[in-house]
Amino acid sequence: MRKNIVAGNWKMNMTYQDGLALVSEITNMVADETLGANVEVVIAPPAPFLHSVGKLLAEGGKIHLGAQNCHQKESGAYTGEISAKQLQSVGVEYVILGHSERRQYFGEDDELLSQKLKAVLAAGLKPIFCIGESLETREADETFAFLTTQLKNGLFHLSNEEFAQVVIAYEPIWAIGTGKTATSQQAQEVHAFIREQIAGAYDAEAALNTTILYGGSANAQNARELFSQPDVDGGLIGGASLKSRDFTEIIKSF
Ligand code: PGA
Repeated sequence: MRKNIVAGNWKMNMTYQDGLALVSEITNMVADETLGANVEVVIAPPAPFLHSVGKLLAEGGKIHLGAQNCHQKESGAYTGEISAKQLQSVGVEYVILGHSERRQYFGEDDELLSQKLKAVLAAGLKPIFCIGESLETREADETFAFLTTQLKNGLFHLSNEEFAQVVIAYEPIWAIGTGKTATSQQAQEVHAFIREQIAGAYDAEAALNTTILYGGSANAQNARELFSQPDVDGGLIGGASLKSRDFTEIIKSF
């Protein structure tokens, strides 16, 4: 049975000191009994904080460590980059890949993302692979065609075994950081569509077992409604993951 996941993506926010304080608050607030059955929590801080945040999380044992990006090569002369193996060595379990900000500002395309996916999987880590359409695409009624291409080029080249490690995040670009959340019906419609595509590319079991997160202005007010949809298995949370109370409320929304 697939897992429900709430993942906090801090992006390029927080100082080290503020970040550690936030993690301590969250771990104190997330007592065992507040975590619903089958709910996994992930925090993805900026890279320089990973090791320390990981140590704090390991003490509590309930929250898992994620990274926001990684390089596609295993090691070598790539100044400023971080490999999946290095992430793994500091306790990272999940890596966000294909976020629209990376696609847009850093020119990450399907070809590069395929290589990054392979690197993450080879290091034994789990990718949280983001897809999502722009407002323009939605208004042109091309959302489903666009997502089909993103899934096909970005993900469906993986073997069954590799694909079993993948978490998908549906993040409509028009909803990210805008305060404009997709309605629960819009999210459900797309999530069900993604699941259908997985069934077509792999099989019904793979479709049932894949965790599909929603991302884009999810918050403590709308999480319950979003997570109550049958095909929404949690969220990738940006802004609201920076406040302990909001993030904890979201975690409790299942
Ligand atoms: P947001 O970001 O929750 O601030 O909209 C979500 C994301 O980009 O992962």
